[in-house]
Order: sequence, then C-alpha cells, then structure tokens
Amino acid sequence: MVMKESMTKKQNLYDNVLIQFNNAAEKMGLDPHIRKILAKTTNEIIVNFPVKMDDGNVQVFTGYRVQHNNTLGPYKGGLRYHQNVDINMIRALASWMTWKTALADIPFGGAKGGIQVDPTKYSQREIERITRRFTYSLGSNIGPEYDIPAPDVNTNAQIMAWILDTYLSGIHPQERNRSVHVVTGKPVASGGSQGREKATAQGVVFCILEWAKRNKFDLNGASYFVQGFGNVGSWAARIMKPLGAKLVGVEDVSGAVYNPNGIDPDDLLEFMSKMGVLTGFPGSKKIDHTQFMSIKADIFIPAALGNQITGETAPGIDVKLVAEGANGPTDPEGDIILQEKGVEVIPDIFANSGGVIVSYFEWLQNKRSEFWDLEDVDTKLRKKIVKTYKNISDIRKQYNTDFRTAANIVSLIRLEKVYKERGIFP
Ligand code: NAD
Repeated sequence: MVMKESMTKKQNLYDNVLIQFNNAAEKMGLDPHIRKILAKTTNEIIVNFPVKMDDGNVQVFTGYRVQHNNTLGPYKGGLRYHQNVDINMIRALASWMTWKTALADIPFGGAKGGIQVDPTKYSQREIERITRRFTYSLGSNIGPEYDIPAPDVNTNAQIMAWILDTYLSGIHPQERNRSVHVVTGKPVASGGSQGREKATAQGVVFCILEWAKRNKFDLNGASYFVQGFGNVGSWAARIMKPLGAKLVGVEDVSGAVYNPNGIDPDDLLEFMSKMGVLTGFPGSKKIDHTQFMSIKADIFIPAALGNQITGETAPGIDVKLVAEGANGPTDPEGDIILQEKGVEVIPDIFANSGGVIVSYFEWLQNKRSEFWDLEDVDTKLRKKIVKTYKNISDIRKQYNTDFRTAANIVSLIRLEKVYKERGIFP
C-alpha cells in the first residue's frame, strides 16, 4: 500500500528509504513501537559556518550531520561534499547506515553528514579551510566513541586527515593519542587501515564472487559496466580485472564511454588523471546516458549517486546482476521492474558494506594500537561478506522475499532484539 501511494510522486531518497523500511517491517511483523522509533532519525544537526576564500571574500556554507540510531554502537557514516546535499538526502543515507552496520553485525549505529558544496569550484586550500571549519562547528557532536565520520562522495583520506587534526587540536592534549579513531578512512600513516581505500569496492567484488559461486556463473570472460569512476567504481574495476571480467562501459559526471572489446581500468585511470574526463579514451566510443543505462552485459555496478535505476531507466537495463556499489541507486519503482525482469540485485546495504566493515577494523586497530596487514584485513572482510550472504539467503527463503527486503529484515531482527532486551526509557 505504502509503495503504490508514494510511487505516484517523484521520489526523494528518504521516501525510498521509508518505502524499503516499511516493506521489510511489514513482511517480518516488526514490533509497532520499534517501527515508530526506527522510522525517525535521532538527531539532526545543521550548521551554517563562514569560511574565508582565497580572494579574501567570506562565504557561508551549510553542513549537516544526521544521527539516525546508536542502539548497537556509536553513530557511524560518511561525509558527502556535493551541491545537491540536503537534509532529506542525509537522512536517507544515515538510515541506510543503521541497516548496514546492523546487517554486517558490527557494533555501530548509523549516521551521515555532508556539506552543500560543489568542491570542483574551490581550491584545495579552500576545501581544507571548509573542512576544518565544518569540523569545528560540529564540535562534540562527533567523537571516537560517539559519532565517527568517514569518506563518501567527493571526500577522501586527505579530508579525513584534516578532520582528525582539527578535532584533536580542540581536545585536551592527554586525550589526543587515544582519540585517533574519531574518523576512519584516514591515510595509513595517520592511523588509517591497510585496505580501507579499496574496501568498499573489495566488498562489492566479494559479493559478486559469492553470487557467481552460488549461481555457478563464470566471471572469467563475463562483461560488466560501471557507473562512477571514483573510489568505489575505479577500485571495483581494478579488482575485477584479475578475475578475467571485461569492463565494457564506464560513466562519470563528465560522460560515458563504451567498448565491447573491453576497457582496461588501469589505462583508463591513467588517461583520466591526464585528461580529467573519460571521453576520448582510445578505442572507446562516446555514448549518451540512455545508451549507457541499456548496455547489454552480465553485470552492472552502479557506483555514483542515488536514483539511477528508476521507472524510466529500469526497463532498458539488460544484465543478470546489479551489484549496488552506490547508496540508493535503485528506487522502489526501479526495483519492481528489475524483479519482474528477473534481474538479481545485491542491495546497497550489503553490496557496499565493505567500506564500513573495514572502517570498523580501522577503529579497532586504533583503539588497540595495532596495525593489521592487508591480507588480514581482506581475509576478515571476505569472511564477513560470505557469512552475511548466508544470513540474508536464509531469511530470503524463510520469508520468500527479494534480496533487499531480506537484507533489511536481517538488520531489523538485530535491532528489534536489542530494543526488546533493553526496553524503552523510562
Ligand atoms: P567519489 O567521489 O570517489 O566518486 C563518485 C563518482 O561518481 C565520480 O566518478 C563522479 O564523476 C561520478 N558521478 C557523479 N555524478 C554523476 C552523475 N550524475 N552521473 C554519473 N556519474 C556521476 O565517490 P565514492 O566514494 O566512489 O562513492 C560512490 C558511491 O558509493 C556513493 O553512492 C557512495 O555513497 C557509495 N559508497 C561509498 C563508500 C566509500 O567508502 N567511499 C562506501 C559505501 C558506499
């Protein structure tokens, strides 16, 4: 019911989250009181802060941190710098973080934040000052045992290092060295973890490998295309390469390219680092967005923004599997169309959970003053992914439902159990 009513209007990401949540809650019969709590965010922090630009002018920016739920552990989630960031987008991303951490069975809750800014319009020095001033404005709303940011769209290890430095500068000197876990996704020399940079994509590929194994599908020679060639998209392609899978299409904010004979991800990255755009990559053909979304291949990895597979584009999707590297790439209408077409979807809260899982490993290493090697990190990550795949598959059978709803149910079962054990204060 909820789905039909809401689908008549254009979805924002938070509408999508609530539709997915209500589907799962309905299916599993989630306790109505707990359902009321989880349908809301806990805290929503909006800060307007001034920053001096390189030319001496002052600009005021709006930053957000939405803390959805911390029942299972400290709030956890990335920071996005994008011109379309608004409160609804951050609410949606924060809610998905709660489901994601519960699903992965790691002791975190869910949060997300960001700044409404187009970072391509600012110098590195300006981005540093924007980041530091945003961190200062958030003050004690973040903290190593309270709320822990990480990278997301247009943020990276360098930005995490500036957040770390700003946060540590504002606390008592005796507290500094035991507060390095206030952010994850840091550069390795500043306390980051081996394997964190590629972790989200590594998780996506571990999911694809598990899907292939369960479906007796040979990835060697399989074709796939990727939307987004930033952290998640470019790493996914680099990790798929040694498996023998063939990258046939890539789209980013600047346009899309196609080559049925295969695109080498390393060469494409090198080309992009020189030219700044994908188009013109030797051997490839420039295609438009509609052509890109209907490439015939075995696998599609959306790794850019939300609401890409919709009522409009889903009918053209021509693949066996969609592995959601991005958050919210498929809207509820798109989901139904893919189901009708028999396209399997590994949902975002599972497919891209490698990032937060390795963030948890980084957080643990910081707390224990340990450094794990890459092999250790990857082995532990793969174990988590395989175990979670099984948990979701069992629930999927039990409730006779789709992959996304089953993943949401696994999360909600965990949250419901803890709420029931603890009760509602007072
Ligand atoms: P990023 O900033 O490194 O890369 C984003 C990519 O998307 C860029 O290649 C950009 O050109 C492309 N893009 C932007 N707008 C586009 C458009 N309109 N059409 C096509 N391409 C477009 O970001 P990222 O960290 O790789 O994140 C990508 C997605 O993965 C996001 O949805 C993010 O929430 C999700 N995610 C990231 C992480 C992480 O650890 N970084 C973890 C979980 C999920």
